[in-house]
Amino acid sequence: QNKVFADLPVTIFEQMSQLARDNNAINLGQGFPDDPGPEDIRRAAADAVLNGYNQYPSMMGLPELRQAIAAHYKHWHKLDLDPMSEVMVTSGGTEALTSAILSVVEPGDEVICFQPVYDSYLPIIRQAGGIPRLVRLEPPHWRLSEEMLRQAFSPKTKAVLFNNPLNPAAVVYPREDLELLARFCQEFDAVAICDEVWEHVVFDGREHIPLITIPGMRDRTIKVGSAGKIFSLTGWKIGFVCAAPQLLRVAAKVHQFLTFTTAPNLQMAVAYGLGKSDDYFLDMRAELARSRDRLTAGLERLGFPVLKAQGTYFLTVDLSPLGLNETDEQFCRRIVHDYKVAAIPVSAFYEKDAVTSVVRFCFAKKDATLDTALERLSDAI
Ligand code: GLN
Repeated sequence: QNKVFADLPVTIFEQMSQLARDNNAINLGQGFPDDPGPEDIRRAAADAVLNGYNQYPSMMGLPELRQAIAAHYKHWHKLDLDPMSEVMVTSGGTEALTSAILSVVEPGDEVICFQPVYDSYLPIIRQAGGIPRLVRLEPPHWRLSEEMLRQAFSPKTKAVLFNNPLNPAAVVYPREDLELLARFCQEFDAVAICDEVWEHVVFDGREHIPLITIPGMRDRTIKVGSAGKIFSLTGWKIGFVCAAPQLLRVAAKVHQFLTFTTAPNLQMAVAYGLGKSDDYFLDMRAELARSRDRLTAGLERLGFPVLKAQGTYFLTVDLSPLGLNETDEQFCRRIVHDYKVAAIPVSAFYEKDAVTSVVRFCFAKKDATLDTALERLSDAI
C-alpha cells in the first residue's frame, strides 16, 4: 500500500458533510451555496448537452473556454495570456492543483506551504517526493512577514504553494504581502503555485491581485482558478491552470493522465458565463457580503467572537475567549450532533502546531438557512 495515502483521513469536508447528512443538520461546513446557481449559465449547459457537446473535447479544453478564460483575465486583471499555450481546462480546482504540483515537484524538492493549509496540497507534494516546509500564519490577521519567509526559503526550495484569498481564514492578501513573496520566489528561483479559486469572492471593495501579475512573476507562477467558485456551481468541477508555456506544457502531461478531459457541455456554459458583465460579478459579491453580514451579526448576537471575512464563502469564529473547554473539533462534533448545524474545525488545516480554537462557517446560503442555523445555535455556548 502507498504510505502517503494509506493512513490519510477522509477529507474533513466529506467527513463533516457525511455527519451533516447523518444528523439531518444544516451544512455550514463544506463550501457550497444552497441556491441553484445562475439560470442562464445552467441553460447554456443544457443547450450544449442537446446540441452535441458530449464527446471527448480536446485535452487542453475547448478553445471557446480557453479563449474566454484569457479574455476574462485580460478584462479583470490586464493579464495577457495566450489561450492556446498558456491556458488549460481541468476537472476542478483540485485537479488543477494536483497537475500543477506533480508537474513541478521532484524527489527531495522543498515546497513551502502556509498553515492553515488546504488539505489536498501536502499529500500530493509528498507523493511527488517533495518535502513540505510549513510556515504558520497567525490569527487574526494571517499576514506574511519577511522573517517567516527568510526562515522557510532555502536553495532547496523548488516551489511555494500560496492560496489567496485564503481558505479558511478568509483573508484577501494586499499587494505588499504579494510583493514580499514575489521577492523571495525570485531570490531563490522558486515556482509559485497560486490557488486563486476564490478570486471573485472578495468583499468591501477589496481587489484580488493575482500573484502572476506582480513584476517578475509572470514566468514563474502557475495560476489555478475554478468556475465552481466563480459561479457557485461547485459540482461542475471545472478548473483552469494558467501559466507560461514552458510550465503549462508539463502540467498538461500530468493532466492527460489524471482526467484527460472535462465535460464539454459544462465547458461551453462556463465560457458563456465568463463573459458576463461586471455587474454580474459585483452583484454576486454584494449578495455574498450581505450573507456574510447576516451570519456575522447573528453569531455575534449569540456571543461568538467572529473574525470578519474579507473574501471566500467562509467566516471564522474564535472559541478561545468562551472558556468552553473543548477543541474546535470537539465543538464541531458536538454542534452537528446536538444542534444540527455542521461547521469545519480549522485545526484540520494544520499538520502540526495546530490552532485548535477556530471554527469555520460557510455563509453562502439563503437567509432562511442562516436564520435557522442561528436559531439552532442559540444555546450552543
Ligand atoms: N473547497 C471546499 C471547502 O473548503 C471543499 C472542496 C472539497 O470538499 N473538495 O469547503
